Amino acid sequence: MLLRFENVSKSYGRVRALNKISFSVYQGEIVGLIGANGAGKTTTVLNIVRYIVPDEGLITLKGKPLSQYDDTSYPVTYMPDVPVYYEELTVNEHLELLAAVYGKNKKDVDNLIERLELAEYLDKLPDTLSKGTKQKLMIACAVLRNFDLFVADEPFTGLDPKQIRVLKDIFIEQRQKGKTVLLSTHLLDVIESFCDRYIILNKGIIVAEGTKEDIGKAYNLKNCTLEQLYLRITAGDTRPFGGGSDFDVIDY
Ligand code: ATP
Repeated sequence: MLLRFENVSKSYGRVRALNKISFSVYQGEIVGLIGANGAGKTTTVLNIVRYIVPDEGLITLKGKPLSQYDDTSYPVTYMPDVPVYYEELTVNEHLELLAAVYGKNKKDVDNLIERLELAEYLDKLPDTLSKGTKQKLMIACAVLRNFDLFVADEPFTGLDPKQIRVLKDIFIEQRQKGKTVLLSTHLLDVIESFCDRYIILNKGIIVAEGTKEDIGKAYNLKNCTLEQLYLRITAGDTRPFGGGSDFDVIDY
């Protein structure tokens, strides 16, 4: 097991964003963290990257509490939902800086520049870039770090269809290398094609966890798309969709 949340709670003032959540993420899998706006996805991610600490509960990475890792050896890379960068450094300077710090070579950097179509922006400051291009810079920066776990909060936001494909391929390649990916997103149809398992959050509580088949079985919903499962589970409505159903229906 790579990552474990054990009864983790987090409140912001009176808002209980996470309410005793427990889940595991295993090495070499891609896990989709899904849930409505305000469900607690970003709060979960921020706990993993140690921007915030839980009020109660324990989070461990490779069996060790997060607090026991040094900042310099913390094996997690992160793509935030809002791009974060050095305003005074160009795109190229960001890439060179990360490559230097993490011992990556020119080929690694050039490969990312080509795949993410960043060549024409290398001399630009991030503030002048479009939303999608800033997002591509965030992908490149995240990949250049050394990590076991890649955590991405809404990583597809702003990307065009071709770049969504590129990012999917990057996640799949990380899995092939034995790395682990945890990503939060609302794009259920995009992640359904490559995630191994899902964690569904609803109002700070985990309402489902597992493969699509596991979740379908737990809720007695067969042959559903991820979207159908999600909509049923989070609505608390496990009745069949109206009219002819294209999947087996539960028996209460
Ligand atoms: P979204 O899909 O909209 O990004 P989310 O699932 O990522 O939502 P969170 O951002 O984790 O949800 O928010 C969970 C709850 O905590 C929400 O009710 C939110 O309003 C609240 N919250 C988050 N950050 C803060 C904060 N800094 N101060 C107060 N409340 C907060």
